[in-house]
Amino acid sequence: MENYCPECGKELVWNNGHYFCGSCEKAFAKQAFCNVCGAELEKIRACGAVNYFCNSCNELKSKSSARYVFEEQKTCQSDTIFRWFG
Ligand SMILES: [Zn+2]
Ligand SMILES: [Zn+2]
Repeated sequence: MENYCPECGKELVWNNGHYFCGSCEKAFAKQAFCNVCGAELEKIRACGAVNYFCNSCNELKSKSSARYVFEEQKTCQSDTIFRWFG
């Protein structure tokens, strides 16, 4: 799956535990939301596969049915980012 920056539309790169846009110089976290009720989904790892659970619907959701939103990471990790990207 390709991931694009919600602000400029450029492709995000996976870096050090988050998605990073080299153009905006911003880090993003990918959050999964229920496609039915819009609640944030809980990530469940089982047998190597990742599934999502909606506490509101009380239902297991597949990765493909979830809605994904990129949220800007406010934590200051610019030191790490600049080391990686020169
Ligand atoms: Zn961007
Ligand atoms: Zn739901």
